[in-house]
Amino acid sequence: MMKRAVAAVPVFSCTGCGRVHFGGGGSCGHCGAPLEEKKVSGRGNIYAFSVVHVAPEEMDAPYTLALVDLEGAGRVLCRLDGFGADCSEMGHLTVGGPVVFERISPRGPLFRTEDISENACG
Ligand SMILES: [Zn+2]
Repeated sequence: MMKRAVAAVPVFSCTGCGRVHFGGGGSCGHCGAPLEEKKVSGRGNIYAFSVVHVAPEEMDAPYTLALVDLEGAGRVLCRLDGFGADCSEMGHLTVGGPVVFERISPRGPLFRTEDISENACG
């Protein structure tokens, strides 16, 4: 099976507390230490995930929030594309399952499962 190309992820790791950030901005919003740019593959594995049914006002529910262990970086909080209001297919989301970086959305980083088929929502 062919693997789809994975976008490079613009991540920044805190030199103080080690938290992973998806934007530069100079310093860590948590501890204030400088951030250091990291080159990572964009691949990761689901540490935990949860479907959010009651969303903040500006978001469509349901959507899926996940903690992803990003290869070479650390644990990040993100949303998983394709598992929200437009797609109820949850069958192959598993803890430990591989995900890949999709893009930075206005609501934060977005990942997707690596093996999701093109018509999984259709
Ligand atoms: Zn920090």
